Amino acid sequence: MISINNLTKYFGETAAVSDICLEIPRGQIIGILGPNGAGKTTTLRMLTGYITPTSGSVVVNGIDASTNFIEVKRHIGYLPESSPIYTDMLVYDYLKFIANIRDIPNSDIFKKFLELSDLCGIREVMHKSVSTLSKGYKQRVGLALALMGDPDILILDEPTSGLDPNQIAEIRSIIKEIGKKKTIIFSTHILSEAEATCDRVVIMNKGQLVADGTAEILKADKSGKKTTLITLEYTDPITVKTIFAKLKGISKIEMAETTDTLKIKLSTSDDMRVDIYNLIKKQDWILLEMIQESESLEHIFKELTKEA
Ligand code: ATP
Repeated sequence: MISINNLTKYFGETAAVSDICLEIPRGQIIGILGPNGAGKTTTLRMLTGYITPTSGSVVVNGIDASTNFIEVKRHIGYLPESSPIYTDMLVYDYLKFIANIRDIPNSDIFKKFLELSDLCGIREVMHKSVSTLSKGYKQRVGLALALMGDPDILILDEPTSGLDPNQIAEIRSIIKEIGKKKTIIFSTHILSEAEATCDRVVIMNKGQLVADGTAEILKADKSGKKTTLITLEYTDPITVKTIFAKLKGISKIEMAETTDTLKIKLSTSDDMRVDIYNLIKKQDWILLEMIQESESLEHIFKELTKEA
């Protein structure tokens, strides 16, 4: 549905976005993650036609944006960072204003407002001035405005930035609801948000795409590293370390002891629970607990964007 081909943007000598290629099918919720200055906003701005690429192309539903941007814009709803909406209007008037700009016939406006106010949860603030709304409600109004033309693609630049945890949860659930019918591309700094909301996560660093996949695939792909946490009834740590060090596949051993227990953290390249269990059994150590953890998305993000 959206093809991004070798998309590149230079600001003077700075390569804000370098040679990005992405295929985004219809109906996917895709989160773009990256540290400050990674090129997320610049990428979203090129997708929405707000700025033109230095090179490369964006093709939306078969329409090349470089030759027919007006047509492409009909397919896209865009909510820029920190919802730049006019604050001196009533919410209702604002929606009406945008509905007129979007050429929605007067006969359809009431139905449209009902639908959007329900979806975005703004019915109770329709007759309030935008200036009096909380940040969360301003963001909901921004979403309703972006959805006015019934676009099949919604692009959101850090939609939860600056919101409190309750507001974040509300916006997230609205995004998930909208995502049942539309393609959504949004940028975020919040890893848990990408993990909880997106079908697919793209990580950018220094203008480049450094990872692309579901959160699960990214976690599994990243060298497949695992951490196994073991608790033994107290056993001599030096003996334990020496014996574990002989087990092939363990790259790191960390330990912490209390008077009753010995906690061991093993970094392994694969799932080694069976080997570890057999070794513990052979040594006749008392196993109190064994848990295997995969790499967290946070760890992967840090690894991939280390120098940033
Ligand atoms: P943040 O998370 O801080 O919003 P980002 O990932 O969205 O960052 P961009 O805003 O796309 O990153 O910026 C990427 C790079 O391009 C940065 O080095 C930034 O300074 C530069 N840049 C962005 N917009 C402009 C501009 N209009 N003129 C010059 N440089 C720009």
